[in-house]
Amino acid sequence: MKASLAWFFAFCIVFIVWTLLDVIRPKQGIEALSSKSVTIILIDGLSQDLFNEELLKGSLPHLQKLMQRSLYVENGISSFPTMTGYAFYPFLTGLDACQSGIYGLRWFDKEREKGQLRNYVGRTNVQMNYDVKASPQNLFELAGTSYTCSINSYMNRGVKESVKTGFAHTTAKYEGKIWLSNLASLPWIGKKVIKNHFLHETAVANLALTQLESNPKVQWITFASPDAYNHVNGTDSIYHHLLRHIDFEIGRILAKCRALGHEQRAIAVVSDHGIQDVHTNLDVCKTLKQNTGLSIERGKSAVLYSTDLTTPASKLSTLDAYFVINGNLSAYIYVLDAAKKKLGKQSLERLKLKNGTTINLPQELIKTEGIELCLLMDEVNGDMYILSKKGSSAITKSGNKYAYRIVKGIDPLGYENHSEAKGRINNGFFTSEEWLKATLYSEYPDAIYRFYELVSQKKSGDLVITAAEGYDLASNYEAVVSNYKGGHGSGGRKVISVPYIYYQPQQQERVEKYMRAEDLGKLIRNYLFGEK
Ligand SMILES: [Zn+2]
Repeated sequence: MKASLAWFFAFCIVFIVWTLLDVIRPKQGIEALSSKSVTIILIDGLSQDLFNEELLKGSLPHLQKLMQRSLYVENGISSFPTMTGYAFYPFLTGLDACQSGIYGLRWFDKEREKGQLRNYVGRTNVQMNYDVKASPQNLFELAGTSYTCSINSYMNRGVKESVKTGFAHTTAKYEGKIWLSNLASLPWIGKKVIKNHFLHETAVANLALTQLESNPKVQWITFASPDAYNHVNGTDSIYHHLLRHIDFEIGRILAKCRALGHEQRAIAVVSDHGIQDVHTNLDVCKTLKQNTGLSIERGKSAVLYSTDLTTPASKLSTLDAYFVINGNLSAYIYVLDAAKKKLGKQSLERLKLKNGTTINLPQELIKTEGIELCLLMDEVNGDMYILSKKGSSAITKSGNKYAYRIVKGIDPLGYENHSEAKGRINNGFFTSEEWLKATLYSEYPDAIYRFYELVSQKKSGDLVITAAEGYDLASNYEAVVSNYKGGHGSGGRKVISVPYIYYQPQQQERVEKYMRAEDLGKLIRNYLFGEK
């Protein structure tokens, strides 16, 4: 065969194989401009009060302008516990986060033989997507072969392009630490890799602008700095400046959508939780050990050595209980026993320890300084109990309705001080919607529904405790900043109530007083995929 003929055949074979592969290969289609798409911008740790303050001052001009052509939800209701990642779930699926198969950023699976502590902080963040239930499909999965992308999210199963700026986020979070200042002063590398929160958010927005050029069907952008800043420093003027800076960056993203002609792109600006300042950091495990002899271990804050969770259950066999921190304002306590079942009020009030003594664990917890609420199930009648230093109450569920009664003393949730909620106490069954409406302006908006639905889950912890105002449950917890000055995770108004802005093409602007995160998720799914 002539050399030229051989080349011709070789070319034909390559061409045929290439064409066949192209048929088989899933199309990572760049969407037509006319097809519906969404960009979800999540501001991590957005304080509703400070957002309103900045809005009134006219310091958030881009968000204000967006609100004028959008649905504005004054009181969006976050997931409980109010946790990063976990609380992204309802926006993607239209379901309450406690239906996801995970119960926060950290929880404990009694039934596993190894890796019982499910900790998604650190390199193990990849485990979150594995642990979340397969059904329903999230927005990324529903987008099929279309291009989708996310920046700084680990709740993103099925996404085509996942960008994480973890190192820049870390250097921003620990700005001012001496070792970091030294690193930052190095020529070239210093400026390149060490970022403060402002530079980091600009870098995030730049990445988002590049992604937009490929017209993502679903785009998720997390602006993480308000949360990170508040944890380390509490709330001060820099927190306010960060909100203004994020408003500016959102302005650039919106301008880019207009320039690219993304006329069918919906825009959601949401948050996963608010923030609460902290002045005192508690070590509840130490207190419990001293006061009762309970053998309890606190799960570590982050896993840096591996992407897997492998500690065998046998390593915990000498313990009575395990303490799992969420955010830093809430925690789960799991009792470790052979039955591996969830324990309720009756068992916990007469808990036999490995040292032979018997304790009333809920009572021990609630008398501890800095603990506000203790939530647990009654294993006999299926009610959920709320204990506080002032008194106790109980929630009964029947069908899809909830009744709330005071058991002893003063209402732990303070509903007695709110006329609309007060009328529903000791007064029969009401739907979750009725309870949300009645408790919206109380210190515990939507707690009847959010608390009951989480605590009644089989694997959500035998006890859930939340910190009182100004306290957290995470003394000397984190490696770099041992004690936080702010946080989230609990269920009070400051952390559970956040604003949402949702722009949908061809929709009139309107204001809603309240909406749960999952109901906003339903609106997005309905717009993109026609789901009812
Ligand atoms: Zn968060």
